[in-house]
Amino acid sequence: MSEQANPFETLQSQIDDAAGHLDVGDDVIERLKHPERVLETNLTIELDDGGLERFEAFRSQFNGDRGPYKGGIRYHPSVTRDEVKALSGWMVYKCAIVDVPYGGGKGGIVVDPTDYSESEIERLTRAFATELRPLIGEDRDIPAPDVNTGQREMNWIKDTYETLENTTEPGVVTGKNIASGGSEGRVEATGRSTVIAAREAFDYLGKDIAGATVAVQGYGNAGWIAAKLIDEMGATVVAASDSSGGISNPDGFDPVAAKNHKTETGSIVGYAESEEDITNEELLTMDVDLLIPAALENAIDGDLATDVQASVISEAANGPLTPEADAVLEDTDTFVVPDILANAGGVTVSYFEWVQNRQRFYWTEEKVNRELEALIVEAFDALVDTLEARDLDDPRTAAYVVATQRVADAFEESGTFP
Ligand code: GLU
Repeated sequence: MSEQANPFETLQSQIDDAAGHLDVGDDVIERLKHPERVLETNLTIELDDGGLERFEAFRSQFNGDRGPYKGGIRYHPSVTRDEVKALSGWMVYKCAIVDVPYGGGKGGIVVDPTDYSESEIERLTRAFATELRPLIGEDRDIPAPDVNTGQREMNWIKDTYETLENTTEPGVVTGKNIASGGSEGRVEATGRSTVIAAREAFDYLGKDIAGATVAVQGYGNAGWIAAKLIDEMGATVVAASDSSGGISNPDGFDPVAAKNHKTETGSIVGYAESEEDITNEELLTMDVDLLIPAALENAIDGDLATDVQASVISEAANGPLTPEADAVLEDTDTFVVPDILANAGGVTVSYFEWVQNRQRFYWTEEKVNRELEALIVEAFDALVDTLEARDLDDPRTAAYVVATQRVADAFEESGTFP
C-alpha cells in the first residue's frame, strides 16, 4: 500500500491528463483543479464519561457550476484536508459523467467511530451539522453517507438542520432511511453501479460477466453489495477482504453469508467457507477476471500494479489506483472502469432521493433501479465513444474528458462574476 500518493495531487493529475485532449483554456482548467472553499472546523463534544474531546472536521465545496455542491461525509482516522479536497473534486467529475445536475463537495471528521458510543457519535454528528448549517441546504450543498457513515448519521444531520432552521427540508441530505424521506435502492446503489459498469466493460470487451471470477477488496456497504449483485449476475466471488485481512475459495462462496459472518464477528476473516486466508495485497494481485477495489484510496500503487492480473477493474472506492498504477495498467490489457463512473450509483440515487424529497412523491425500488441502470449505461457509452473517437489509451482519461468538458461548458456559459 502506498503511503505517499496525495489524493489531491492525484485528482489534479487526472484533470491535467484530460485537459491535454480538450479545447478548454488553461485558465479554466486551473480553476477546475482547486476547490472554491474549504471549511476547517474543530468540534468539541462531551464524552459519556463527562470529559471533553476535540475533533478536526472539514467540508470542501469544490465546484458549483453545474448545481449545488454534493457529496458524502466520512468518519475515519486518516481523514485529512487534502483527502477531503480530492474527494470533493472527484464528486464534481462523477456528477458530470452521469449528468446529474450537481457540483461536488465532500466532508470528513478525523475520528475512528468504533472507539465511541452511539450517543457520542450522535453528539459529534449534530455538532458538525450545526457548523455546516449555514453552508448546506437543498439548493446549496447536500451531504450524504460515505466511509463509516450511513442512514443514522444522515437522519441526525437532517433533524439538526430542520430543528435549527425551523423548517422541513428532507432534501438537505441524502442517504436517509425510508421513514425519514430516504429512497428505495439508495443503500445498494453504489454496489449496483459498480457491477453494472463491470458488466458493460465485459460486454465491450466481448466477454460475459456470467462465469467470471471476482475478487472484492473491502466489505463495507459498497463492497459487499457489489459481491452480492455480481454473484446474482452469475459471476463467482472467489475472494474478499476487509481491513483485518482476506478470505478466498477458488470454488466461490456465498457473499451474503460472508457478510453475516462480518456482522456477527466484526470481520470477514474466519468465515467458514474460506479455503485459504489471504492478505489484501494477495487479493489485489489474484488471477481473477474482475477486481473490485471497494476500500480506500491508494490501494494499488505503481509497484503492486505490475502484479495485477485482472482483466477488468471496477472501482467501487474513490481513488483506489495511484497515477503510477494507472500508468502501469495503461500498457496492459486491464480495462479500468474509473471510480467516477463505477461508483456513481450512490450519488445518482441520491439525486433520485432529492428529486423525490422535493416533489414529496416517492418511487418504487423497481423504478429507481431502472433509472439508475439507464444513467450508468448511458455514461459508460459516452466514455467508450470518447475513448474510441479520440483514440485514448485509458478509460479514466476518457471519462475525465467527457466530464471536464461538461463542467467547463457550464462555467463558460455562465461567465465570470465578479
Ligand atoms: N459518498 C458517495 C460518493 O463518494 C455518495 C455521495 C452522494 O450520494 O452524494 O459518491
